[in-house]
Amino acid sequence: MTDCGNDQKWDSYCKRCGLCCFEKIEDERGNIFYTQTPCRYLDVVSRKCKIFERRFEIYTSCIKLTPELVRTLRWLPPDCGYRKMMAGCEDEPEIIPNKRLSKRRRRSG
Ligand code: SF4
Repeated sequence: MTDCGNDQKWDSYCKRCGLCCFEKIEDERGNIFYTQTPCRYLDVVSRKCKIFERRFEIYTSCIKLTPELVRTLRWLPPDCGYRKMMAGCEDEPEIIPNKRLSKRRRRSG
């Protein structure tokens, strides 16, 4: 059984692919598009966050992923380690539309 409640273990599910660290646009139909614009703290060569250990302190817009968020966020890529882990921890993650997102919202980090 996967321990979803342990922070260190939880962080280890991130594959450091960096895909979530590019700005995204959501259109009026709710489709998510990844842009070529990375978060300023993403090393685009290694695909690693340059401030990973202190990212929430330095870049306050960076979102701390939790099991609850991973279940609901629509912009995490299908291969995201957290999404895959949740698929093994529970049944298929429940993806629900986030009504609070504007028609066109950019997000990075
Ligand atoms: S998409 Fe998922 S696995 Fe990749 S860097 Fe973001 S949180 Fe980590």
